[in-house]
Amino acid sequence: MRYELMLPHQIRNAIAGNWPVVLPLGVLEYHGEHMAVGMDTLAVIKTLELFEKEADIVILPPFYYGAASYAVAPPEGSGSVQVGGNQLAPFAEELFYGLLRVGFRNIHTIIHHQTENFAAGMPTDLAFKAAGRQAIFRLLEKERGEGWWGSDKMADYYAGHAEGDNVFNWVQVHPLMPAAMNGKYPFDHAGIGETSLMLALCPEAVDAAHFADNTSWYTEGASDASVEFGHKGVAMILEHLRTILSS
Ligand SMILES: [Zn+2]
Repeated sequence: MRYELMLPHQIRNAIAGNWPVVLPLGVLEYHGEHMAVGMDTLAVIKTLELFEKEADIVILPPFYYGAASYAVAPPEGSGSVQVGGNQLAPFAEELFYGLLRVGFRNIHTIIHHQTENFAAGMPTDLAFKAAGRQAIFRLLEKERGEGWWGSDKMADYYAGHAEGDNVFNWVQVHPLMPAAMNGKYPFDHAGIGETSLMLALCPEAVDAAHFADNTSWYTEGASDASVEFGHKGVAMILEHLRTILSS
């Protein structure tokens, strides 16, 4: 369900069922002359829309204004919009705190931008990860008071932790393409991998008439992209979503 369309009774039902509540997170960034600047975010939104057909999830309105960086291209005339991680973190903390206050305890953010070394992290995902932790600490101190972790009620913390029951899982940040896809589907920027994903998920974001306008190294191979290849990547992403998004 789309959060903005939900009625309060549906929200209460989603909370009671511990439905995954998912924020599509991304950027607006130059992706060659042949592809739309929203590619990274659109890939997350469109795969979640497919996943929504098979699972009970809440999809939050997407957030497009991450730290694109100007690593790929300067912004003038390219379309890249950069908002720094230090600016994102306070916003994200308020957003997560607000969602926790509503009652959600199964919140996920999915990002497809600079995620090829996700364990190390990059500005957008690190900002949202830190923000999630801050929001959880803040909520726990409000609801349970200082010393909540040290209280006798938490004596089974490590046992519960071993079983995957962990308050710090209330807000999680994941890459759209997990490391397990390495070697099976190309991680690239506006190359054959991303262009094929868009052809499969959102064909209006690709214009083949502009392949020939590309002059950069990273767009070499983009013109070999195909819908069929994109569907292979989409199938792997859906498999990943099934493992990370469960009630
Ligand atoms: Zn991209």
